[in-house]
Amino acid sequence: MIEERFDAIVVGAGPAGNACALTLAQRGLKVLQLERGEYPGSKNVQGAILYSDALEQLIPDFREDAPLERHIIEQRLWMMDDRSTTAMQYRSDDFNEEKPNRYTIIRAQFDKWFSKRVQAAGALVICETTVTELVQDDNGRVIGVRTDREGGFIKADVVVLAEGVNGLLGARAGLREVPAPKTVALAVKEMHFLPQETIESRFNLKGDEGVVIEAAGTITNGMTGTAFIYTNKESLAVGIGCLISDFAETGETPYGLLERFKSHPSAMPLLMGSEVKEYAAHMIPEGGYRAIPKLFGDGWLVVGDAGQFVNAVHREGSNLAMTTGRIAAETIAQIKTRRDPMTAENLSVYKKKLDQSFVMKDLKKYKNLPHALENKHLFTTYPQLLSSAMQTWFRVDGVDKKAKENAIVKSFFSARRFTGLLSDALSMARGWR
Ligand SMILES: Cc1cc2nc3c(=O)[nH]c(=O)nc-3n(C[C@H](O)[C@H](O)[C@H](O)COP(=O)(O)OP(=O)(O)OC[C@H]3O[C@@H](n4cnc5c(N)ncnc54)[C@H](O)[C@@H]3O)c2cc1C
Repeated sequence: MIEERFDAIVVGAGPAGNACALTLAQRGLKVLQLERGEYPGSKNVQGAILYSDALEQLIPDFREDAPLERHIIEQRLWMMDDRSTTAMQYRSDDFNEEKPNRYTIIRAQFDKWFSKRVQAAGALVICETTVTELVQDDNGRVIGVRTDREGGFIKADVVVLAEGVNGLLGARAGLREVPAPKTVALAVKEMHFLPQETIESRFNLKGDEGVVIEAAGTITNGMTGTAFIYTNKESLAVGIGCLISDFAETGETPYGLLERFKSHPSAMPLLMGSEVKEYAAHMIPEGGYRAIPKLFGDGWLVVGDAGQFVNAVHREGSNLAMTTGRIAAETIAQIKTRRDPMTAENLSVYKKKLDQSFVMKDLKKYKNLPHALENKHLFTTYPQLLSSAMQTWFRVDGVDKKAKENAIVKSFFSARRFTGLLSDALSMARGWR
């Protein structure tokens, strides 16, 4: 067991923990990072899209040796009913830039690479070690951690909880609540392997160009959730996720939903002939702004998924994790430079900095959206109405265009009536503000 005292202990080696440990070590603090997995990334599941901006602020030259799959030049948004897909697609050659904005990555490889940078900066990283408890003094101040290894507890001036979505350590110590099932999605993901040329011809790509597809509609069988297909070099990441409260209510299984998505006539041709090598399940915090727990206290801070920092609308999580990890570390380093104690009052600067950052501004903007998305018509009635409107519009059958327009408008009013349409529109507008 380690006897020495650390300036900071970081629990977890995902993007939040790595960003935090790296920044602390770069600023000369004595850092211990503990990860329960066999290696950083071994426990982690993600689609995965990496947003360059957040990583660039930590490691400006990351493109030189980070394990990147494809840079994204095209985004497709699918609204699906059982047989059809209404799509929006944006593809731009502008995304073929010198420093691309988004990449697909494979998290196990990426987290390992990131951790090497953390270690090179001087942090002590120990894997296969689960933090079992936060140690508090008589005044409730966090003064270290206990792990599943033998020995006493490890002391530190501050403990950063980068433990991911469950937030179990913080909850066990009575510092926060465990996230409610309504605020967490359960997602499953498979890796489908295909030859590089097949992926490039199926998705109309060349070189390292990539496509991401986000999908919603009747594929989730009335539950609040989305599905995705992301192109890697020689594989496709295919997944789907819905709120845990919806799984509990409906008795649906994540695997059943994934099969439903994969066998949809729009998805199946893209996956045909692939070899499935990995299957993984993980939770995603989706409660947004209103579900953010207490973020700091005497001797502790929360970063990343543990703080519910995920923007579910824009599918951003890893960038919020890295940004919160970096800002937490900058706050700690400033307090340390002033030789001040790691009190709740001093650490509260972390929250103030977050409030000024895109992280809180974005989450605040969508604070009403989780409630708006509880409307099941968004995942049942509307995709069907949209699909049948498209079909009416595109089918050439001797019916005049005015009659087609009238039929489309009538279909919306008879499905939801005027009051339903109005209340759905207002609720979505409130969610979007
Ligand atoms: C299917 C899926 C697809 C996603 N797609 C995207 C995407 O495309 N783009 C995107 O930006 N985000 C995506 N996300 C979200 C993204 O993965 C998370 O927001 C991000 O991983 C959060 O990072 P983190 O470091 O906070 O937590 P995590 O990555 O979960 O890391 C937490 C770490 O802490 C360790 N740990 C936990 N408890 C302990 C303990 N007691 N002791 C020691 N170690 C512990 C865990 O082993 C883990 O390594 C996706 C998530 C899922 C599930």
